[in-house]
Amino acid sequence: MIKIKEVIIGTNNQGKYKEICNLLPNTIKKYSPKEFKIITPDETGKSFEENSLIKASYFSKKTNLICLSDDSGLEIDLLGGEPGIYSARWSGEKNNFDLAIEKVYKKMNLIKKDWENQNTARFICCMTLYWPSGKSYISKGIIEGKISKNKRGKNGFGYDPIFIPNGYNQTFGEMDFNSKILIDHRSKAYSKMKNFFI
Ligand code: IMP
Repeated sequence: MIKIKEVIIGTNNQGKYKEICNLLPNTIKKYSPKEFKIITPDETGKSFEENSLIKASYFSKKTNLICLSDDSGLEIDLLGGEPGIYSARWSGEKNNFDLAIEKVYKKMNLIKKDWENQNTARFICCMTLYWPSGKSYISKGIIEGKISKNKRGKNGFGYDPIFIPNGYNQTFGEMDFNSKILIDHRSKAYSKMKNFFI
């Protein structure tokens, strides 16, 4: 197999971009959509897989580069899987995750005042590799955990301050960067496609 030497990382989300850069080997040349002034396409798919493919094919076609995209989100069981593929959209136009997290707590409290024992949740990540020839490869990573009673920690991004991965006491927001990316949904999805790079 011919190993990939350069990719465009198909996300305009800084938190994800940083994580994906750290997962990829140092020797890979990495481009960001910002360098080409390309904005993210509308995520019109009905699943993480569909949205991940939409982004990967879009950025690849725009740049003629191989694209590695990520579509991810948080599924909360008490909320029937919400926010799911709408995880980014819950933060509004200004990407305000204080707002998104408030919305999570408000909805959970409305369904069950004392939800502490019904707080299971998971982060899901679908990564797609898309070649200018039209070939694609999709992988998925899931990390199970629970929603914390309060926001904790200032590290990470998005919903990190309210997610406690199973087997840990800290939220992703309290963990340091290197500990999180060793175990999270993104690294699990990446590990299934790393042979394309190394
Ligand atoms: P999208 O894949 O661009 O639709 O955005 C996914 C959204 O899910 C992000 O904006 C984050 O809010 C959330 N998300 C995905 N992965 C993580 C993570 O590792 N930590 C915290 N939030 C995440």
